[in-house]
Amino acid sequence: MAAGLGTGTLATGEAISIRSIRRLACNAGHLPVVLGGESMPVDVGKSRRRFTRHQSHALAVLHDTCGIAGCERPFAWCELHHLTEWSKGGPTDLANALPLCGHHHRKAHDPAYEMRRHRGREYVLKKIRR
Ligand SMILES: [Zn+2]
Ligand SMILES: [Zn+2]
Repeated sequence: MAAGLGTGTLATGEAISIRSIRRLACNAGHLPVVLGGESMPVDVGKSRRRFTRHQSHALAVLHDTCGIAGCERPFAWCELHHLTEWSKGGPTDLANALPLCGHHHRKAHDPAYEMRRHRGREYVLKKIRR
């Protein structure tokens, strides 16, 4: 989990990558996940990780679409992303929330990409050169 490698298993028995788990956990707050290898709950007792319905409504006023500049996916299709990851101390408040479509949400959690503020409330995802 710490290295971001390997796979876990959903309660349904479906294999799932750690990256997907992180993304799903970011969105949903917690998941019934049993990790392969070192068994560790993905989320324990962090009930306020999930954005509330009120926060979601407030965010919908600020954003019509995905928070990535130029992306036209409507807000209703977006997942709410923590700009600073919850696991790194990012709070579940509006200033730390950004709606992202599934495509950009995956990229936001991809270590090969870096998210930077573009202008206003828009962000861009840049591929990190190695
Ligand atoms: Zn996220
Ligand atoms: Zn998008």
